[in-house]
Amino acid sequence: MTPDVLVAGGGIAGSAVAILLGRAGLRVELFERGEFPREKPCGEGLMPAGVAVLERLGLAGSIGGARFHGVRYHFDAQVATGRFPSGHGMPTEGLAQRRAVLDQALFEAAATTPGVRAHTQAQVVAPVREDRRVTGLVVNGVVRRAGLVIAADGARSRLRSALGLDLPQRRRRFGMRAHFRLAPGAAAPPWVDIFLGADHELYVAALPRGELVVAALAEVRHARAPAEAIFERWWRAHPRLSQRLRGARRLTPLRGALPLSLRARRGYVPGMVLLGDAAGSLDPIAGCGMTQALVGAELLAGYAMRGVTGSDDWLAEFERARRSRFLDTTLLTQGLLWLSRHPGCVPPALAALRAWPGLFSHLVGVAGGARTLSGFGNRASLRSV
Ligand SMILES: Cc1cc2nc3c(=O)[nH]c(=O)nc-3n(C[C@H](O)[C@H](O)[C@H](O)COP(=O)(O)OP(=O)(O)OC[C@H]3O[C@@H](n4cnc5c(N)ncnc54)[C@H](O)[C@@H]3O)c2cc1C
Repeated sequence: MTPDVLVAGGGIAGSAVAILLGRAGLRVELFERGEFPREKPCGEGLMPAGVAVLERLGLAGSIGGARFHGVRYHFDAQVATGRFPSGHGMPTEGLAQRRAVLDQALFEAAATTPGVRAHTQAQVVAPVREDRRVTGLVVNGVVRRAGLVIAADGARSRLRSALGLDLPQRRRRFGMRAHFRLAPGAAAPPWVDIFLGADHELYVAALPRGELVVAALAEVRHARAPAEAIFERWWRAHPRLSQRLRGARRLTPLRGALPLSLRARRGYVPGMVLLGDAAGSLDPIAGCGMTQALVGAELLAGYAMRGVTGSDDWLAEFERARRSRFLDTTLLTQGLLWLSRHPGCVPPALAALRAWPGLFSHLVGVAGGARTLSGFGNRASLRSV
Protein backbone atom coordinates (compact mmCIF):
# COMPACT_ATOMS: atom_id res chain seq x y z
CA MET A 1 0.00 0.00 0.00
CA THR A 2 1.28 3.50 -0.82
CA PRO A 3 2.38 5.32 2.34
CA ASP A 4 0.97 8.74 3.27
CA VAL A 5 4.30 10.21 4.36
CA LEU A 6 7.97 9.51 3.62
CA VAL A 7 10.50 10.71 6.19
CA ALA A 8 14.17 11.02 5.24
CA GLY A 9 16.45 10.73 8.29
CA GLY A 10 15.81 8.78 11.49
CA GLY A 11 17.46 11.22 13.92
CA ILE A 12 15.59 13.10 16.63
CA ALA A 13 13.34 15.11 14.28
CA GLY A 14 12.56 12.30 11.84
CA SER A 15 11.84 9.64 14.48
CA ALA A 16 9.70 12.02 16.57
CA VAL A 17 7.55 13.09 13.63
CA ALA A 18 7.17 9.48 12.47
CA ILE A 19 5.89 8.49 15.94
CA LEU A 20 3.41 11.37 16.00
CA LEU A 21 2.09 10.77 12.49
CA GLY A 22 1.85 7.01 13.02
CA ARG A 23 -0.14 7.60 16.21
CA ALA A 24 -2.41 9.94 14.23
CA GLY A 25 -3.29 7.02 11.97
CA LEU A 26 -1.06 7.76 8.95
CA ARG A 27 1.07 5.25 7.07
CA VAL A 28 4.67 6.43 7.41
CA GLU A 29 7.94 5.16 5.96
CA LEU A 30 11.05 6.31 7.82
CA PHE A 31 14.44 5.97 6.09
CA GLU A 32 17.70 6.16 8.06
CA ARG A 33 21.00 5.63 6.28
CA GLY A 34 22.84 4.44 9.41
CA GLU A 35 22.36 1.84 12.15
CA PHE A 36 21.64 2.25 15.86
CA PRO A 37 23.14 2.78 18.32
CA ARG A 38 25.17 5.49 16.66
CA GLU A 39 27.16 8.42 17.95
CA LYS A 40 26.55 12.04 16.97
CA PRO A 41 28.71 14.99 18.02
CA CYS A 42 26.55 16.91 20.49
CA GLY A 43 26.66 18.62 23.91
CA GLU A 44 23.77 16.27 24.83
CA GLY A 45 21.84 18.77 26.96
CA LEU A 46 18.11 18.84 26.17
CA MET A 47 16.18 21.93 27.27
CA PRO A 48 12.92 21.69 29.31
CA ALA A 49 10.69 22.28 26.25
CA GLY A 50 12.34 19.25 24.62
CA VAL A 51 11.91 17.23 27.81
CA ALA A 52 8.21 18.20 27.72
CA VAL A 53 7.91 16.72 24.21
CA LEU A 54 9.53 13.46 25.35
CA GLU A 55 7.08 13.38 28.27
CA ARG A 56 4.10 13.93 25.97
CA LEU A 57 5.41 11.14 23.74
CA GLY A 58 5.52 8.92 26.84
CA LEU A 59 9.24 8.25 26.27
CA ALA A 60 10.98 10.31 28.98
CA GLY A 61 11.06 7.35 31.40
CA SER A 62 12.56 4.86 28.97
CA ILE A 63 15.13 7.39 27.70
CA GLY A 64 16.33 8.10 31.22
CA GLY A 65 19.23 10.54 31.41
CA ALA A 66 20.49 12.89 34.09
CA ARG A 67 18.43 15.95 34.97
CA PHE A 68 20.01 19.42 35.30
CA HIS A 69 18.67 22.58 36.91
CA GLY A 70 20.02 25.15 34.44
CA VAL A 71 23.35 26.57 33.34
CA ARG A 72 26.34 28.06 35.12
CA TYR A 73 28.82 30.30 33.30
CA HIS A 74 32.39 30.19 34.55
CA PHE A 75 34.79 32.94 33.53
CA ASP A 76 38.07 33.17 35.47
CA ALA A 77 36.92 33.17 39.10
CA GLN A 78 33.41 34.46 38.31
CA VAL A 79 30.42 32.09 38.28
CA ALA A 80 26.91 33.12 37.22
CA THR A 81 24.07 30.67 37.83
CA GLY A 82 20.86 30.59 35.77
CA ARG A 83 18.18 28.20 37.02
CA PHE A 84 15.32 27.17 34.73
CA PRO A 85 12.27 29.11 35.90
CA SER A 86 9.23 27.26 37.16
CA GLY A 87 6.21 27.64 34.95
CA HIS A 88 2.79 26.19 34.36
CA GLY A 89 3.26 22.69 33.14
CA MET A 90 6.80 23.14 31.79
CA PRO A 91 9.48 20.90 33.37
CA THR A 92 11.92 22.88 35.47
CA GLU A 93 14.83 20.64 34.54
CA GLY A 94 16.72 19.79 31.39
CA LEU A 95 17.93 16.31 30.56
CA ALA A 96 21.39 15.11 29.56
CA GLN A 97 21.64 11.76 27.82
CA ARG A 98 24.08 10.14 25.41
CA ARG A 99 22.92 10.61 21.82
CA ALA A 100 23.68 6.94 21.27
CA VAL A 101 20.90 6.20 23.80
CA LEU A 102 18.43 9.00 22.97
CA ASP A 103 18.47 8.53 19.20
CA GLN A 104 18.16 4.76 19.42
CA ALA A 105 15.23 4.99 21.85
CA LEU A 106 13.39 7.42 19.56
CA PHE A 107 14.06 5.36 16.44
CA GLU A 108 12.94 2.14 18.15
CA ALA A 109 9.79 3.86 19.40
CA ALA A 110 9.09 4.93 15.80
CA ALA A 111 9.76 1.42 14.49
CA THR A 112 7.23 -0.07 16.94
CA THR A 113 4.54 2.56 16.30
CA PRO A 114 1.58 1.10 14.40
CA GLY A 115 1.52 2.48 10.86
CA VAL A 116 5.26 3.26 10.80
CA ARG A 117 7.76 1.20 8.81
CA ALA A 118 11.26 2.21 9.86
CA HIS A 119 14.29 1.19 7.79
CA THR A 120 17.98 1.42 8.61
CA GLN A 121 20.73 1.32 5.97
CA ALA A 122 18.24 3.15 3.77
CA GLN A 123 20.11 5.91 1.96
CA VAL A 124 17.91 8.66 0.54
CA VAL A 125 19.63 9.61 -2.69
CA ALA A 126 17.37 12.25 -4.24
CA PRO A 127 13.88 13.72 -4.28
CA VAL A 128 11.43 12.66 -7.00
CA ARG A 129 9.82 15.68 -8.70
CA GLU A 130 6.82 15.74 -11.01
CA ASP A 131 5.21 18.95 -12.26
CA ARG A 132 7.43 20.99 -9.88
CA ARG A 133 6.10 19.10 -6.85
CA VAL A 134 8.07 16.61 -4.76
CA THR A 135 6.14 13.36 -4.96
CA GLY A 136 8.63 10.91 -3.52
CA LEU A 137 12.20 9.87 -2.79
CA VAL A 138 14.81 7.67 -4.36
CA VAL A 139 15.90 5.32 -1.56
CA ASN A 140 18.75 2.87 -2.19
CA GLY A 141 18.06 3.34 -5.90
CA VAL A 142 14.31 2.60 -5.65
CA VAL A 143 11.60 5.22 -6.27
CA ARG A 144 9.11 5.60 -3.38
CA ARG A 145 6.05 7.89 -3.57
CA ALA A 146 3.74 9.53 -1.01
CA GLY A 147 1.47 12.56 -0.58
CA LEU A 148 4.01 14.29 1.69
CA VAL A 149 7.80 14.07 2.03
CA ILE A 150 9.57 15.22 5.20
CA ALA A 151 13.29 15.96 4.93
CA ALA A 152 14.76 15.38 8.41
CA ASP A 153 18.18 14.43 7.08
CA GLY A 154 20.22 16.70 9.33
CA ALA A 155 22.36 19.82 9.07
CA ARG A 156 23.98 18.78 5.79
CA SER A 157 20.64 17.81 4.26
CA ARG A 158 21.09 16.27 0.84
CA LEU A 159 17.44 16.98 0.01
CA ARG A 160 17.80 20.68 0.91
CA SER A 161 20.79 20.96 -1.44
CA ALA A 162 19.13 18.98 -4.22
CA LEU A 163 16.20 21.40 -4.20
CA GLY A 164 18.40 24.50 -4.25
CA LEU A 165 17.38 25.56 -0.74
CA ASP A 166 20.90 26.01 0.72
CA LEU A 167 21.92 29.47 1.92
CA PRO A 168 25.58 30.49 2.24
CA GLN A 169 26.87 30.06 5.78
CA ARG A 170 27.70 33.19 7.77
CA ARG A 171 30.41 32.18 10.22
CA ARG A 172 32.73 29.28 10.51
CA ARG A 173 32.62 27.77 13.98
CA PHE A 174 33.31 24.18 14.80
CA GLY A 175 32.44 21.85 17.65
CA MET A 176 33.84 18.66 19.13
CA ARG A 177 33.00 16.47 22.08
CA ALA A 178 34.26 13.53 24.14
CA HIS A 179 32.91 11.45 27.03
CA PHE A 180 34.63 10.70 30.32
CA ARG A 181 33.89 8.44 33.28
CA LEU A 182 34.54 10.25 36.55
CA ALA A 183 36.99 8.82 39.05
CA PRO A 184 35.37 6.47 41.62
CA GLY A 185 33.60 8.52 44.28
CA ALA A 186 33.63 11.72 42.22
CA ALA A 187 30.31 13.36 41.38
CA ALA A 188 29.34 16.01 38.86
CA PRO A 189 26.82 18.69 39.85
CA PRO A 190 23.38 18.71 38.14
CA TRP A 191 24.07 21.77 35.98
CA VAL A 192 25.37 22.38 32.49
CA ASP A 193 28.63 24.15 33.30
CA ILE A 194 29.92 26.47 30.59
CA PHE A 195 33.58 27.41 30.86
CA LEU A 196 34.45 30.49 28.83
CA GLY A 197 37.96 30.91 27.46
CA ALA A 198 39.35 33.69 25.31
CA ASP A 199 38.98 31.62 22.14
CA HIS A 200 36.55 28.81 23.06
CA GLU A 201 33.61 27.69 25.18
CA LEU A 202 33.38 24.31 26.92
CA TYR A 203 30.01 22.76 27.79
CA VAL A 204 30.08 20.12 30.49
CA ALA A 205 27.07 17.99 31.43
CA ALA A 206 26.74 15.12 33.89
CA LEU A 207 25.35 11.94 32.33
CA PRO A 208 24.03 8.79 34.01
CA ARG A 209 26.44 6.23 35.51
CA GLY A 210 29.11 8.75 36.47
CA GLU A 211 29.77 9.80 32.88
CA LEU A 212 30.41 13.33 31.70
CA VAL A 213 30.26 14.91 28.26
CA VAL A 214 32.60 17.78 27.42
CA ALA A 215 31.82 19.70 24.21
CA ALA A 216 34.01 22.50 22.85
CA LEU A 217 32.84 25.23 20.45
CA ALA A 218 35.16 27.76 18.80
CA GLU A 219 35.98 29.70 15.65
CA VAL A 220 37.77 27.61 13.04
CA ARG A 221 40.67 30.09 13.00
CA HIS A 222 41.52 29.01 16.57
CA ALA A 223 42.11 25.42 15.46
CA ARG A 224 45.80 25.76 14.71
CA ALA A 225 46.88 22.41 16.18
CA PRO A 226 45.59 18.82 16.08
CA ALA A 227 42.08 18.60 17.58
CA GLU A 228 43.14 16.33 20.48
CA ALA A 229 45.88 18.72 21.52
CA ILE A 230 43.57 21.75 21.43
CA PHE A 231 40.80 19.94 23.30
CA GLU A 232 43.11 18.86 26.09
CA ARG A 233 44.73 22.30 26.30
CA TRP A 234 41.31 23.93 26.60
CA TRP A 235 39.87 21.74 29.33
CA ARG A 236 43.10 21.81 31.35
CA ALA A 237 43.05 25.63 31.19
CA HIS A 238 40.00 25.75 33.50
CA PRO A 239 41.05 24.78 37.05
CA ARG A 240 37.54 23.76 38.21
CA LEU A 241 37.05 21.52 35.17
CA SER A 242 40.54 20.14 35.39
CA GLN A 243 39.85 19.27 39.04
CA ARG A 244 36.55 17.57 38.09
CA LEU A 245 38.31 15.46 35.49
CA ARG A 246 41.16 14.41 37.79
CA GLY A 247 41.40 10.61 37.61
CA ALA A 248 38.60 10.45 35.00
CA ARG A 249 38.82 7.90 32.20
CA ARG A 250 38.26 8.95 28.61
CA LEU A 251 35.45 6.84 27.08
CA THR A 252 35.02 8.06 23.51
CA PRO A 253 37.25 9.52 20.82
CA LEU A 254 36.73 13.13 19.81
CA ARG A 255 33.91 13.63 17.32
CA GLY A 256 33.55 16.96 15.58
CA ALA A 257 31.21 18.98 13.39
CA LEU A 258 31.92 21.85 11.01
CA PRO A 259 30.34 24.31 10.37
CA LEU A 260 27.87 24.62 13.22
CA SER A 261 25.25 26.65 11.46
CA LEU A 262 23.78 25.94 8.03
CA ARG A 263 20.69 27.76 6.85
CA ALA A 264 17.85 27.06 4.44
CA ARG A 265 16.49 29.60 1.95
CA ARG A 266 13.02 28.29 2.76
CA GLY A 267 11.66 25.48 4.90
CA TYR A 268 9.53 23.84 2.23
CA VAL A 269 8.80 23.29 -1.46
CA PRO A 270 5.51 21.95 -2.80
CA GLY A 271 5.17 18.38 -1.57
CA MET A 272 8.11 18.49 0.85
CA VAL A 273 8.88 20.14 4.17
CA LEU A 274 12.25 20.40 5.94
CA LEU A 275 12.43 19.50 9.63
CA GLY A 276 15.00 19.78 12.42
CA ASP A 277 18.55 20.75 11.42
CA ALA A 278 17.65 20.22 7.75
CA ALA A 279 15.46 23.33 8.03
CA GLY A 280 18.46 25.29 9.33
CA SER A 281 20.85 24.33 12.11
CA LEU A 282 21.42 26.75 14.98
CA ASP A 283 24.89 27.22 16.44
CA PRO A 284 24.66 25.15 19.67
CA ILE A 285 25.90 28.07 21.79
CA ALA A 286 22.44 28.26 23.43
CA GLY A 287 21.85 24.48 23.35
CA CYS A 288 18.51 24.62 21.48
CA GLY A 289 18.95 22.31 18.45
CA MET A 290 17.51 19.05 19.83
CA THR A 291 14.62 20.94 21.42
CA GLN A 292 13.84 22.62 18.11
CA ALA A 293 13.90 19.22 16.40
CA LEU A 294 11.34 17.84 18.88
CA VAL A 295 9.14 20.94 19.15
CA GLY A 296 9.26 21.35 15.35
CA ALA A 297 8.16 17.72 14.91
CA GLU A 298 5.13 18.32 17.14
CA LEU A 299 4.25 21.51 15.32
CA LEU A 300 4.55 19.82 11.92
CA ALA A 301 2.46 16.82 13.01
CA GLY A 302 -0.37 19.26 13.72
CA TYR A 303 -0.31 20.48 10.10
CA ALA A 304 0.74 17.39 8.19
CA MET A 305 -2.72 15.80 8.03
CA ARG A 306 -3.50 18.52 5.48
CA GLY A 307 -0.38 17.68 3.46
CA VAL A 308 -1.04 14.01 2.88
CA THR A 309 -4.05 14.80 0.70
CA GLY A 310 -1.67 16.40 -1.80
CA SER A 311 -2.56 19.97 -0.73
CA ASP A 312 0.27 22.50 -0.30
CA ASP A 313 -1.75 25.44 0.98
CA TRP A 314 -0.72 24.80 4.60
CA LEU A 315 3.05 24.93 4.01
CA ALA A 316 3.47 28.71 4.18
CA GLU A 317 1.26 28.84 7.27
CA PHE A 318 3.35 26.13 8.95
CA GLU A 319 6.55 27.97 8.06
CA ARG A 320 5.28 31.21 9.61
CA ALA A 321 4.23 29.36 12.76
CA ARG A 322 7.63 27.66 13.00
CA ARG A 323 9.60 30.88 12.49
CA SER A 324 7.54 32.63 15.10
CA ARG A 325 7.93 29.71 17.55
CA PHE A 326 11.74 29.72 17.16
CA LEU A 327 12.32 33.47 16.83
CA ASP A 328 13.36 34.02 20.45
CA THR A 329 15.85 31.16 20.58
CA THR A 330 17.31 32.35 17.27
CA LEU A 331 17.73 35.88 18.65
CA LEU A 332 19.22 34.54 21.89
CA THR A 333 21.68 32.43 19.88
CA GLN A 334 22.67 35.49 17.82
CA GLY A 335 23.16 37.52 21.00
CA LEU A 336 25.42 34.86 22.52
CA LEU A 337 27.41 34.59 19.28
CA TRP A 338 27.90 38.36 19.36
CA LEU A 339 29.23 38.08 22.94
CA SER A 340 31.59 35.28 21.92
CA ARG A 341 33.05 37.61 19.28
CA HIS A 342 33.46 40.41 21.83
CA PRO A 343 35.20 38.75 24.79
CA GLY A 344 35.80 42.15 26.39
CA CYS A 345 32.04 42.37 27.01
CA VAL A 346 31.87 38.99 28.79
CA PRO A 347 32.95 40.13 32.32
CA PRO A 348 30.40 42.99 32.50
CA ALA A 349 27.69 40.73 31.05
CA LEU A 350 28.42 38.04 33.65
CA ALA A 351 28.55 40.65 36.42
CA ALA A 352 25.08 41.83 35.33
CA LEU A 353 23.72 38.27 35.33
CA ARG A 354 25.15 37.67 38.79
CA ALA A 355 23.68 40.90 40.09
CA TRP A 356 20.28 40.12 38.57
CA PRO A 357 19.63 36.37 38.87
CA GLY A 358 15.97 36.85 37.91
CA LEU A 359 17.06 38.16 34.51
CA PHE A 360 19.47 35.27 34.03
CA SER A 361 16.79 32.78 35.01
CA HIS A 362 14.46 34.43 32.50
CA LEU A 363 17.03 34.14 29.69
CA VAL A 364 17.68 30.50 30.58
CA GLY A 365 13.90 30.10 30.43
CA VAL A 366 13.95 31.55 26.89
CA ALA A 367 16.59 28.99 25.87
CA GLY A 368 14.59 26.33 27.69
CA GLY A 369 11.45 27.23 25.75
CA ALA A 370 9.43 28.42 28.75
CA ARG A 371 9.69 32.20 28.36
CA THR A 372 9.63 34.83 25.63
CA LEU A 373 12.43 37.36 25.26
CA SER A 374 10.12 40.33 25.55
CA GLY A 375 8.24 39.02 28.56
CA PHE A 376 10.69 39.63 31.39
CA GLY A 377 8.67 40.17 34.58
CA ASN A 378 5.43 39.33 32.81
CA ARG A 379 3.64 36.12 33.77
CA ALA A 380 1.86 36.17 30.41
CA SER A 381 5.27 35.58 28.83
CA LEU A 382 5.06 31.93 29.79
CA ARG A 383 4.76 29.82 26.70
CA SER A 384 2.15 27.19 26.44
CA VAL A 385 3.67 24.19 24.73
C1 LIG B 1 29.11 20.09 18.60
C2 LIG B 1 27.62 20.14 18.75
C3 LIG B 1 27.05 20.28 20.00
C4 LIG B 1 25.66 20.34 20.13
N1 LIG B 1 25.12 20.44 21.39
C5 LIG B 1 23.78 20.48 21.55
C6 LIG B 1 23.20 20.52 22.84
O1 LIG B 1 23.87 20.48 23.88
N2 LIG B 1 21.85 20.59 22.93
C7 LIG B 1 21.04 20.59 21.82
O2 LIG B 1 19.82 20.67 21.96
N3 LIG B 1 21.57 20.52 20.58
C8 LIG B 1 22.91 20.45 20.41
N4 LIG B 1 23.44 20.36 19.16
C9 LIG B 1 22.52 20.36 18.00
C10 LIG B 1 21.86 19.00 17.80
O3 LIG B 1 22.84 17.98 17.69
C11 LIG B 1 21.00 19.02 16.52
O4 LIG B 1 20.22 20.19 16.50
C12 LIG B 1 20.09 17.80 16.43
O5 LIG B 1 20.85 16.61 16.30
C13 LIG B 1 19.14 17.92 15.23
O6 LIG B 1 18.40 16.72 15.08
P1 LIG B 1 17.95 16.25 13.62
O7 LIG B 1 17.12 15.04 13.82
O8 LIG B 1 17.38 17.40 12.87
O9 LIG B 1 19.30 15.88 12.86
P2 LIG B 1 20.30 14.66 13.13
O10 LIG B 1 20.35 14.35 14.57
O11 LIG B 1 21.57 15.04 12.46
O12 LIG B 1 19.62 13.45 12.37
C14 LIG B 1 19.61 13.36 10.96
C15 LIG B 1 19.55 11.89 10.59
O13 LIG B 1 19.41 11.80 9.18
C16 LIG B 1 20.21 10.73 8.72
N5 LIG B 1 20.51 11.00 7.31
C17 LIG B 1 21.26 12.01 6.80
N6 LIG B 1 21.29 11.94 5.46
C18 LIG B 1 20.54 10.87 5.12
C19 LIG B 1 20.19 10.28 3.89
N7 LIG B 1 20.65 10.78 2.72
N8 LIG B 1 19.40 9.18 3.88
C20 LIG B 1 18.93 8.65 5.05
N9 LIG B 1 19.25 9.17 6.26
C21 LIG B 1 20.03 10.26 6.29
C22 LIG B 1 21.44 10.77 9.62
O14 LIG B 1 22.13 9.54 9.63
C23 LIG B 1 20.81 11.13 10.96
O15 LIG B 1 20.46 9.97 11.69
C24 LIG B 1 24.83 20.27 18.99
C25 LIG B 1 25.40 20.14 17.72
C26 LIG B 1 26.77 20.06 17.60
C27 LIG B 1 27.36 19.90 16.23
